[in-house]
Amino acid sequence: MKLVEGKKALIFGLANNRSIAWGIAQALHEHGAELGFSYGIPQLERRVKPLAEQLGVGFVEMCDVTKDADIDAVFAKAADHFGQIDILVHSVAFAKQEDLSGRFVDTSRDGFAMAMDISAYSLVAMAQRARPLMANGGSIMSLTYYGSEKVMPHYNVMGVAKAALEASTRYLAADLGPEGIRVNAISAGPIKTLAAAGIAGFRKMLAYAESKNPLRRNVDQDEVGRTALWLASDLSSGVTGEVIYVDAGYHILGMPDAVGEE
Ligand code: NAD
Repeated sequence: MKLVEGKKALIFGLANNRSIAWGIAQALHEHGAELGFSYGIPQLERRVKPLAEQLGVGFVEMCDVTKDADIDAVFAKAADHFGQIDILVHSVAFAKQEDLSGRFVDTSRDGFAMAMDISAYSLVAMAQRARPLMANGGSIMSLTYYGSEKVMPHYNVMGVAKAALEASTRYLAADLGPEGIRVNAISAGPIKTLAAAGIAGFRKMLAYAESKNPLRRNVDQDEVGRTALWLASDLSSGVTGEVIYVDAGYHILGMPDAVGEE
């Protein structure tokens, strides 16, 4: 049974075949959705176009989410191309390299504002434009990380931006719920991607999580993709405003290191 047959999905944040957005795109495609892709900078076109061809995706547009004009343009083109959309995937985040190492206390005003703008406000900006295209209801989702709730080494300003993203998810869910639009976030465990490579010590995080996670392994893009598929489909029709963890169980641990064992 195909879970999103005939539904139309706009996916932001595809950079390459390691992107979480690519795992989501493949899962939605496999289950019958018609897709549109958006990428953040011109240099990514040569990576994103072949991925689009692989899935027969005809809608591929650049959009810098710091620019309202870019967001307006991509949604106007999506309206022309798709008419209505059913699914919006926000898989976009950015913070300056120097803010993803060292101490949070040293974050600059500029670095703070940039991380918040690209990684949190952009969800609100997209939801504003998606709303008129979701007259029949829809599912909006974004990607977050547990560093929003607990202090993680070097995650710093991105943890603050993810906290804003998760709070925005709840406020958007309340505003858009009466229109049949659901808004959720997926909190993924660490996965090796371009964005993750910017976090100092990321490889050590991966190894640590693998050894402590209740499932004793890390998650991958496909597992996040299948949860996104569930959120996009009617199987999750009663779920909104939630943060869904796809982290091999890491967030349930109060004390990851075993102590008191003889
Ligand atoms: P990725 O590098 O593949 O994706 C990040 C995307 O953000 C890229 O496509 C990049 O072009 C885009 N982006 C950055 N600035 C932009 C801008 N100004 N305008 C438009 N797009 C812009 O890495 P990813 O890990 O797949 O990240 C996707 C999402 O998943 C992010 O929100 C990230 O925080 C989240 N996430 C990642 C992990 C992980 O460990 N990889 C874990 C939890 C959550």
